[in-house]
Amino acid sequence: MEIHVLSLFTGVFPGPLEASILKRAQERGALRVQLHDIRDFTTDRHRTADDYPFGGGPGMVMKPEPIFAAVEHAAGEVEANLGADFRASTPVILLSPQGQPFSQKIAAELASHAALILICGHYEGVDGRVEEHLSTRTLSIGDYVLTGGELPALIVIDAIARLLPGVLGDAESAGNDSFSAGLLEGPQYTRPANFRGLEAPPVLLSGDHGAVARWRRRQALLWTWQRRPDLLSQAELSAEDRAFLDMLKQATSSGPYGPE
Ligand code: SAM
Repeated sequence: MEIHVLSLFTGVFPGPLEASILKRAQERGALRVQLHDIRDFTTDRHRTADDYPFGGGPGMVMKPEPIFAAVEHAAGEVEANLGADFRASTPVILLSPQGQPFSQKIAAELASHAALILICGHYEGVDGRVEEHLSTRTLSIGDYVLTGGELPALIVIDAIARLLPGVLGDAESAGNDSFSAGLLEGPQYTRPANFRGLEAPPVLLSGDHGAVARWRRRQALLWTWQRRPDLLSQAELSAEDRAFLDMLKQATSSGPYGPE
């Protein structure tokens, strides 16, 4: 997959891209990240990429011309690398607090594309015509406001990269992660089995794979019920899962967070 990132602050990217899974994904040829400095697509002597907001108000707004030119350039690279069909089908994603909440499901959906173009805003945001006429999707990484779209873009890239074939060492590990089956993952333990008198759950050392799998499933259900009960309505649950959840509900007359 190739991901084109458009930003005024491309210097934010090298550190995270050169470590751990993101580094490995690129080394294995599963991921190629191409950074485009939006300022390179300005046409005036001062390389102006932002201007005062129409109608007044604080801060500056990123101008449309260099963003449109940068996306057209990136789309041209997609076409040169992958062919004309891909140019048309490549999602052009604007990072914005006003976007659709990013999720594991969206990461999986985006991982199926051969190319993506990500637009990072800065200052007060980008000219409205970018979202109206250029981007195909707007994503938010959460209900808070960051300085720029660079960290959100890295989060989106990271979540996608670990889903690309051949990137994670253990092919199973992404499948077991939180959200992949609609539940939170439960707690994990490693050596020593006894740390300062604190025992790891004995079932995990029992060698009984069936018992371990059942215990993990129940921990996942318990944590999801306690911490993110909103996820349960969308999760794939077996009859056994439902019986366990009913038992949890009966064990306390109140909800997971106390009296309702
Ligand atoms: N004035 C905007 C508002 O009130 O929604 C905030 C702009 S923010 C300071 C600048 C840029 O950071 C945005 O254009 C966007 O690209 C990025 N950004 C900030 N928070 C974000 C979030 N939660 N998710 C995705 N992008 C975000």
